[in-house]
Amino acid sequence: MLIQCAKCGKKIEKEQGYGHQGKTFCEDCYMDLLSPPKACDPWAVHSAQTFLKGKDKLSTLTPQQSKIVNYIKEKGEATAEEIIKNLNLPDEELRREFAVLRHMEILRATKRGDKIFYILF
Ligand SMILES: [Zn+2]
Repeated sequence: MLIQCAKCGKKIEKEQGYGHQGKTFCEDCYMDLLSPPKACDPWAVHSAQTFLKGKDKLSTLTPQQSKIVNYIKEKGEATAEEIIKNLNLPDEELRREFAVLRHMEILRATKRGDKIFYILF
């Protein structure tokens, strides 16, 4: 027999429902009731948002952009010459990809001495 969760309206098997204050909830909603999200914990909220944002961003990258990002992630920093040489990428291709990645706030450039290093944003 199917019943409806009192909170989200999801159809669930009766024996899988959780009774609480005279209502029946699905497992997710019941867990929510027991442990309300800590809205007063800005750090947890902030990290969750940052994590999601970062994950979303990276999942939209082209394989070539991922290669560049992963290379820099691995090295910590890399010069354009280094990336061009190791990833076998034409100079203008790298500059174009970097412009996109910079715009997405994934990579940025930093100058040290007379060299430009690409690093994670
Ligand atoms: Zn529910």
